[in-house]
This record gives sequence, structure tokens and C-alpha cells, in this order.
Amino acid sequence: MDYKIQTVRGFEKVSPKNIDYAKRIDRNNDGILDYNEIKDYLIKNDDLKVVYTRDGSKIVNEGQIIREFTDFLADKPIEAQSFIRDYGQIVESMKKLAEKYPDKVSLEVIGKTFEGRDLVVMKISTSNKEGKKSLMITGLHHAREWATGEAALNVAEKLLSEYDSNEVVKNLLDNTDLYIFPVVNPDGYEYSLKKSRWWRKNRKVFEKGVGVDLNRNYYTPKDPTLYRQPNDKPDSTWDDYGASDEVNSDTYRGPYGASEEEIKALEKFVNDKKIQTVIDIHSYGNMILFPWGYTSDPTQWDTIYKEVGNEMNGVVGKKYRVMQSINLYPTTGASQDYHHAEGRFTYTFEIGNSFFPSSKKELEQLKQEVLDMTKVFLKNLVNGKIPTNKYEVIQS
Ligand SMILES: [Zn+2]
Repeated sequence: MDYKIQTVRGFEKVSPKNIDYAKRIDRNNDGILDYNEIKDYLIKNDDLKVVYTRDGSKIVNEGQIIREFTDFLADKPIEAQSFIRDYGQIVESMKKLAEKYPDKVSLEVIGKTFEGRDLVVMKISTSNKEGKKSLMITGLHHAREWATGEAALNVAEKLLSEYDSNEVVKNLLDNTDLYIFPVVNPDGYEYSLKKSRWWRKNRKVFEKGVGVDLNRNYYTPKDPTLYRQPNDKPDSTWDDYGASDEVNSDTYRGPYGASEEEIKALEKFVNDKKIQTVIDIHSYGNMILFPWGYTSDPTQWDTIYKEVGNEMNGVVGKKYRVMQSINLYPTTGASQDYHHAEGRFTYTFEIGNSFFPSSKKELEQLKQEVLDMTKVFLKNLVNGKIPTNKYEVIQS
């Protein structure tokens, strides 16, 4: 069957390579993907961000995301493909930094992906001071969030280049071990950049489908319910909460917690290195999110999360929303809940207006925002405002 997309401009043909998407979207099987069918599909897969406030719910950038998805279905190319570094180029850039700053930068391969790519983490360490703090920045859990790997790597590039001339930056780096893991999901990223840009998950092959949502795959024995709620059965999908048990869903949590090499390796790494804090970069929506994502209960650090979040927001013109993650949508198995449960102070940044930066200029602006917010984070980490003590559960 041929599928058509109904748009304000008339009908557009779905590219043959996207027929599988069309089948899932076209619920009344008339061959026409209308606006509401597309919107429902995007909401169901966490593609459209719905923010819940006291005044009700609001979809962020609905028109733009639906237009971009429609362009994807029709297989129209986008400009970002020409100015985003692919995985090979990102790793090459990391190696160049290690060569340029041999006394400050080291690289470590912490695991291998399903398709055999190295998972590479960069460490920046500029002093042997006692009592140093630590921060890890992660990007590209989600394959199509192209600006996030660039933004993570840019933090390393800029802080290193400013180290000799900027006393403030020197002080931040000398008192912190900084770990940059710009591409958590190299297989998915390459697939999104080069084959099918709307791809979100990794590329693990299962009997009935492909890919796990890596930001739904985190697991800690300290609290197994943050991966899967007790009433959410593995063999049924009607009771799914915060992630899906359907392998073809964009939010498939995987067959069990930390089943994926990327997440297993990351969890082991942060524990081995005793990393104290984490910033995880995603797109889109201009949000600074803090735990929890699986319950509306506040954490014991709620006040500090809000205060430091607001301070970070202040340096980027207050364009972000600072809020508890569940007010976006409930998630289970996500980075921030895992790290918080393990005692790490952590934020998720949702940067940009869509998954794909529309221009080089927009990408540069997003990189700058992440850098500016990270500097505020590091300041509060070094001065002791951000807690680095062990996890305590709030009794509700
Ligand atoms: Zn994401």
C-alpha cells in the first residue's frame, strides 16, 4: 500500500523506506496519515514533549516537530547532516585533544557496542589536589539528538582552551575530575546520521525487532522499581509505565535492567571511578530536569536542585524550564533516576527546539548554553553547595 501524509500544503508521499512507520501511524488503515494520527504516534513515543503544569498540559513545539517528522517520512534531507560530526570524527577529535593536552587528557575505552564500536570516555584532570570533586557529562543516549554529542565534547574543548588564560576555569578544572562521554549510543547515532534520522534507540537485534531505549535501561539493585514498577509485568504492554515492554516501541526498556552493553559499561565505570555527579544532555525542549522521573515524590535534594537549576538558567537568559522530570512525562530506567538513587547529584538538560539543529549558528548557540550552564554547575560543585554525600531515601 502507498501511504500519503495529509499536510496544510496538501498530500505528500511517504518514502518507501519509511513504510514501517506509516503502518504503525495509520490506525484507521485508509492509507492517509492525518495530523492527529501523526500527533498521537509522536506523543506515544515520547517524541513530542508534553509538559504538565498547574494550568494543564502543553505540548512543546508541536508544529515544528510534526513538520520535521513529516519531512523525514517523505525522506527530505536536512542541512544538519553537513555540519554535524559523525562518530568517527568525534572519536578523532577526542584523540586530538589527548595529543594536544597529554598531561591533562586521557581516553578510556569502557566497552563495545552490539555492532562492535568502542565506547570512549575522555577524562580531564589538571591537578593532583586533595578532595577533588567529579562530574561526568553524557550525550547521545538517543541517536537522533544530534546536538548533544557536540555539546558535550564542546565543554571539553572550550574548558581546555581557556585553562591557561582564564583563572576561573583553571580553578574549576584543578578542583574537579571531569569525564566526558559524548556518545553513549554510537551504533544508533551512526544509523540516525546516515540511514534513518528519526532513530532513537541502540541497534541491538532481537527476534521481533531492533533496539533498546538506552535511557530506559538503567538498573540499580538499590531500587529495582525505578527500572520497572511492581505492577508493570514484563510480558504485557497494557500496564507499561515510564517505558515499554514492546520491542518495536521507541521507548523499549530492554529484556531486563542494564541488559545493554552501553548502560552496563557506563554503570560500571561511574561506580569504579566513584563519580559524584552527572549531567546528561538530551534534546529537545529547553528544560533543566532533575529527579525523580518515575515518581512525583520530591528527592531529599529538591531545594538544591531547584536553586542550582535556577542559577544555571539565569546565565542562559532564563529560556529553560527548571522542573522535576516527571512533569515532562513519567520515565523508568532513566539516567537521572539511576544516578540519584546511587547518590549522585544529577540533571538532564533538554536542549534546542527540535532533535536536529536547523543551522550551524543554532548548534553553536546550543553548545554555548551547555558550556555556560556547566560552568555554573562546576562552581557549585567546587564550592560545596552541590552535595556529594551518599543517598538517603526521603520517607513519605
Ligand atoms: Zn533524549
